[in-house]
Amino acid sequence: MVGDEKKVGLMGGTFNPIHTGHLLLAEMAYEQFQLDKVLFMPARKPYHKTVRTMVSDQERIEMIQLAIQGNANFELSLIEFQREGNTYTIDTLKELNIKYPNTQFYFIMGADSLYQFSQWKEPEEILQRAILLAASRDDIASSALNSQIEYLIEHFGIGDIRLLKSPNMEISSHNIRNRVLEGKSIRYLLPDVVREYIETKGLYQER
Ligand code: ATP
Ligand code: MG
Repeated sequence: MVGDEKKVGLMGGTFNPIHTGHLLLAEMAYEQFQLDKVLFMPARKPYHKTVRTMVSDQERIEMIQLAIQGNANFELSLIEFQREGNTYTIDTLKELNIKYPNTQFYFIMGADSLYQFSQWKEPEEILQRAILLAASRDDIASSALNSQIEYLIEHFGIGDIRLLKSPNMEISSHNIRNRVLEGKSIRYLLPDVVREYIETKGLYQER
């Protein structure tokens, strides 16, 4: 049975909006860990974030669809949308483990998320259920990230956390929203189809 095991990458986030940083991270994970596919799972209500009302849930979803169309290895998953209340990764993993028993999940994240990981709900249980892939972000060097990985494994006494190599891109949704607000260009920070969608619908033009 082991030979039949599927390897599925999970990319969780607010995706407000999805951008090149997310997409490249998923692509690098797909390649480096020979994944069968990567699921993009927009959070409905991330407990640590107030999703701005100026963009609807539907619009965040549509932007993901536009961004990943044409890549057969990427899929949209609404698993975190269909659940009531706050979005917790552990609840998602429990659901996925039941739905797809013969699958190894790889949870993909940027360095900032790995630094917050101890504060997530049931981090130990997450480590039992998924391999974590962490990529550098901003000016967090991979040596610092490696120390954080070692710390977490020692602290929880369990876990498979690996460094995901990826070009360091200083792109964030927050910065994109600000640029739109200031009338600056967002070209190349996200796929053109998503940029056109944002422009056509006039998204992010108010605070
Ligand atoms: P915001 O600015 O609104 O917080 P964001 O750009 O951080 O948005 P999220 O949806 O919060 O995007 O991120 C989802 C995941 O993608 C997180 O694990 C985050 O660390 C990772 N990520 C996002 N952008 C990058 C990037 N440029 N490099 C590496 N990881 C990234
Ligand atoms: Mg973020």
